[in-house]
Amino acid sequence: MSATAVRTCPLCEATCGLELTIDGGRVTRIRGDAHDVLSRGFLCPKGVSLIQLHEDPDRLRTPVRRTAGGRFEPCSWDEAFALVDAGLRGVLERSGGDRDAIAAYLGNPSAHSLSALVYGRVLLKALGTRNVFSAGSVDQIPKQLASALMFGGPLTVAVPDLDRTDHLLVLGANPLTSNGSLMTAPDVRGRLRRIRARGGRVVVVDPRRTRTAQAADEHVPIRPGTDALLLMAMVATLFEEGLVAPGRLAGLCDGIEEVRALAAPFAPERVAGPTGIPAGTIRRLARELAAAPRAVVYGRMGTTTQAFGTTASWLVDVLNVLTGNLDREGGAMFPRPATGDGPRRARMGRWRSRVRGRPEVFGELPAACLAEEIDTPGDGQVRALIALAGNPVVSTPNARRLERALASLDLMVAVDLYVTETTRHADVILPAPSLERAHYDLALSAFAVRDVANYSPPTLPLPDGMPDEWETLLRLAGIAAGQGPDPNVAALDDLVAAATAQRLGVPPEALAGRRGPERILDAMLRAGPDDLTLADLEAAPHGIDLGPLRPRLPELLSTEDGRIRLAPEPLAGDVARLRAALEDARAGTGREDGGLLLVGRRDLRSNNSWMHNLPLLVSGPARCTVQVHPDDAARLGLADGARARVRSAVGEIELPVEVTDAVMAGVVSIPHGWGHDADGVGWATAARHAGANSNVLSDEQAVEPVSGTAILNGIPVTLAPLASDGARTVSDRARRVSGRAGTAAAAPRPA
Ligand code: SF4
Repeated sequence: MSATAVRTCPLCEATCGLELTIDGGRVTRIRGDAHDVLSRGFLCPKGVSLIQLHEDPDRLRTPVRRTAGGRFEPCSWDEAFALVDAGLRGVLERSGGDRDAIAAYLGNPSAHSLSALVYGRVLLKALGTRNVFSAGSVDQIPKQLASALMFGGPLTVAVPDLDRTDHLLVLGANPLTSNGSLMTAPDVRGRLRRIRARGGRVVVVDPRRTRTAQAADEHVPIRPGTDALLLMAMVATLFEEGLVAPGRLAGLCDGIEEVRALAAPFAPERVAGPTGIPAGTIRRLARELAAAPRAVVYGRMGTTTQAFGTTASWLVDVLNVLTGNLDREGGAMFPRPATGDGPRRARMGRWRSRVRGRPEVFGELPAACLAEEIDTPGDGQVRALIALAGNPVVSTPNARRLERALASLDLMVAVDLYVTETTRHADVILPAPSLERAHYDLALSAFAVRDVANYSPPTLPLPDGMPDEWETLLRLAGIAAGQGPDPNVAALDDLVAAATAQRLGVPPEALAGRRGPERILDAMLRAGPDDLTLADLEAAPHGIDLGPLRPRLPELLSTEDGRIRLAPEPLAGDVARLRAALEDARAGTGREDGGLLLVGRRDLRSNNSWMHNLPLLVSGPARCTVQVHPDDAARLGLADGARARVRSAVGEIELPVEVTDAVMAGVVSIPHGWGHDADGVGWATAARHAGANSNVLSDEQAVEPVSGTAILNGIPVTLAPLASDGARTVSDRARRVSGRAGTAAAAPRPA
């Protein structure tokens, strides 16, 4: 007899509710949970593919270890942890006890895992290293940093109040495809349609005519990397035309006049050439924003992972403030998570990376620095890496250098579902459960367009012998703390729970009967603003609706003086660099020479690097293509469907050409997360749809100076047709790829 279960989809930021049919211990069908308080039945193809992910024959279900012959073979959990213990002890002995010899990398899925969010921190603390890296520095850190500098907290990030706004200005984001990012909003298409249905307007600024742009009232093409110029010109227009009206926030803001002075050199007529947007359009965009009853500006990857990422992120909220749209209904608002607001003070600059001297931001160093920290000899050199659900070889810059660096490590330990381009370099891979783990969106509820709380218990029991993810992480933490290969995980969990309860002021006895992440979650809910308990959520499987977003300022501000800093350092100081870039562009010393600039793109059926092994998501036409405007294709002799070589300052890749006027002339676009043709990668389906790794083209030395975030958009490239006899075929590559774990060849490692 079949049963039904509901759980939140863990795959992307939309956090859709799913209804799963379970038959004979197997999930046989997934559809949207019509009663979910946030998604109301919406789901995308990725949600349905959870069945294929769960049942994927290539997914690791037992630990594997590297053999002397350079292959992976299954091993017991005890054997795996013993190897980790011996390996870490060896690295620490050889480094004289220097904890920085061990680095940690946290991949994007860590942000969707309750266990990883709670116990990943415990592991990092036990490791005691300052070499912590994550996918955040190839993604959203500029937005968090700008928000922290303006409002005080790293999670004090304003999100669009999509359901009540009358005017949405989107820059460098494609939420119809990504399903929202730093904006948890299932069914973006429906929400945008409703904006327009109530007489509102949606405008998309992007070098590509994205799916979101197609669904908007207006698409404004912009040259890659010039969003900050456009935003500054809009700010200048507001001041020049007397349209600044911060409303009730006026008395809370410092720096309005400083912003006026900073913006003055960026008149629309001056930035029109460099941005490719006529001055009249820029002025109109500013006027429309100011005139709309309720409006919001929203920017994402295209604005963060570029040369002025933090500046552009800052200016998005400067516009929201100056037009009176910050912290008000229909504007940019601050969610109120049921588990509390997280850290109120942003910490940064407490240490610097060893090789390049980059400052830490929120306890992390830029992922762009990882390879050099491994391959540069000297005191403090990284010799071991712990990677949690991350594939930096595909998702961070200069993939080739990072691959070589990983291959030179003394020890690499991965917690992952697959043998990936990155984990193929590991000595030990520890698998994690999928539908067998509990779920709560601890991180993403801080970005939801409506306050909700939704807990999912494990849908299926853990397979025999497999520890839960939190137990694996705690065991690693115990090993890192020197407690040997088999630390007392239950005792460690009690310690974590006791410390959490004390910090939050929750009586420990209230948490009796629970353990693991549920106990911590229960404590956080009890200490949160809605006085919820985990039992409340267990009794509400479709989630609890806590209502629309509500104004939260000034209570939420955690700057030293409790005020909004509209022109904070170092952002105000960085405007000189923006001004220099403007002058260079106007003088024709920038990329005004007809060269091509590379931007990324998302696909609805893809999510970074790790969902390409699911047949449901890779069926149909190849998605990893280089999109080229017809004029550029004609100029360069590129034919649709033919292969081309794309070359940057640091690398080159080959992939099929897709000629389309969806990209601006002078711009080419390649999705990230592909390139599954490395020897030894353990996903067979992905290997047959390998694509090419766009991060072979990105330069790890090119980081945005304020946050250290990698510059992944606006990379200068050249394109050339590939002689057909030199082209490798997909099947050629697939033949070079080994099969599933247990037989997969590990990456070669120097003797
Ligand atoms: S939109 Fe995101 S959360 Fe919703 S079903 Fe798709 S992958 Fe899952």
